[in-house]
Amino acid sequence: MKKYFSEEHLMLQQMVKEFADKEIKPVAQEIDSQSKFPKDIINKMSDLGLLGIPWDVKYGGNGMDTLSLVIAIEEIGKICTSTAVTMMAHTSLGTGPIAYFGTENQKEKYLSKLAKGEMLGAFGLTEPSAGSDAGNTQTTAELDGDYYIINGQKAFCTNAGESGVITITAKIMSKDSSKQKIGAFIVESDSEGVTFGVPEKKMGWKGSDTRSVFFENVKIPKENILGDPNKGFSQFLETLSGGRITIGGLALGIAQGAFNAAVKYSKERTAFGKEINSFQGVSFKISDMATKIEAAKHLVYHAAWLKDNNLPFMKEAAMAKLFSSEMAMYVTTEAIQIHGGYGYIKEYNVERHFRDAKLLEIGEGTSEIQRIVISREILNNFQV
Ligand SMILES: Cc1cc2nc3c(=O)[nH]c(=O)nc-3n(C[C@H](O)[C@H](O)[C@H](O)COP(=O)(O)OP(=O)(O)OC[C@H]3O[C@@H](n4cnc5c(N)ncnc54)[C@H](O)[C@@H]3O)c2cc1C
Repeated sequence: MKKYFSEEHLMLQQMVKEFADKEIKPVAQEIDSQSKFPKDIINKMSDLGLLGIPWDVKYGGNGMDTLSLVIAIEEIGKICTSTAVTMMAHTSLGTGPIAYFGTENQKEKYLSKLAKGEMLGAFGLTEPSAGSDAGNTQTTAELDGDYYIINGQKAFCTNAGESGVITITAKIMSKDSSKQKIGAFIVESDSEGVTFGVPEKKMGWKGSDTRSVFFENVKIPKENILGDPNKGFSQFLETLSGGRITIGGLALGIAQGAFNAAVKYSKERTAFGKEINSFQGVSFKISDMATKIEAAKHLVYHAAWLKDNNLPFMKEAAMAKLFSSEMAMYVTTEAIQIHGGYGYIKEYNVERHFRDAKLLEIGEGTSEIQRIVISREILNNFQV
């Protein structure tokens, strides 16, 4: 992957790999089995500067690029999805909108704390009746003097219960309903009127904090509106587009974690007097898994390269997310198969990778939505 990686990328990769092996690996199973939010690890990651990788050094970030963020998520994802997701949602979704669309004051007040990891960010777009159809936002923001009053509910908000701020979308109310637009807002999580549901009980991502967030007459200063008041929704979609590249990084991590375990096991396990990898039925699985991982790497790193070079990346980010998340499901399924019955047992970790992989096909736009984005981009720009 030298085509994509600089010396700086390789050094970051090595540093994060060593950190994940030393600090996260020993507790990864416990995080999953006890649905334990990895607070201590996140604090250590903050000390290492891993919670602000792509943001400007002026605000306490590392001033690195999207590819660096992908590399870090991939290395942590090999070991523990819950930890990787916490960092990923904080960086690309919770902090991203403020870094991309925030005013100087908003960046000084919030980005400087988020980039240094002094607080975690969350991203509230999904609602009970607005998932794939996220434009159906029912949460409202009503201007009252110098404040917006927020009412409504967000669902499945990653990091919400651990967050310092949540960036949300809300319909800006107007007497003329045709003028109602969706705006984006920064809400401090401890604002009066903000309450949280209990952590969702999930199939995977068990150590990641996922909750509903309720807003009841929450008063936020009007300067907490993010970017163009009429373009909050498109700003969130743009943020999600970048987030899809980091989901690709997580898919690479989960798949490689399962792949490494499967290859190792195939060399240790014998059947009919031979290592199981000597059977073509097993070795061909290894070939197919490795080939799909390699293909996904090119898609994900290329999408990151496009973004880092300020080139259009929406289609490529959707392709990277679609392919790599389906690849991660395939690879983790085959990793269990190579382990036979032991693959079904928690001790061997591959069932954890399998459960963690599934959400990649759903979160930040389902695979069906990615196919809509890709086909729309192709059909709208088609020229022979
Ligand atoms: C653990 C977890 C963490 C999450 N974290 C966050 C977060 O931090 N912030 C946030 O805002 N959201 C978050 N989400 C929400 C997630 O992004 C949504 O679940 C996802 O976008 C799908 O929305 P939905 O669940 O409402 O499904 P629906 O939109 O109801 O979709 C149901 C099914 O219908 C299909 N479908 C819908 N519309 C179409 C169409 N036009 N064409 C074809 N098929 C279609 C979908 O692909 C899917 O298969 C999280 C979800 C989970 C489970």
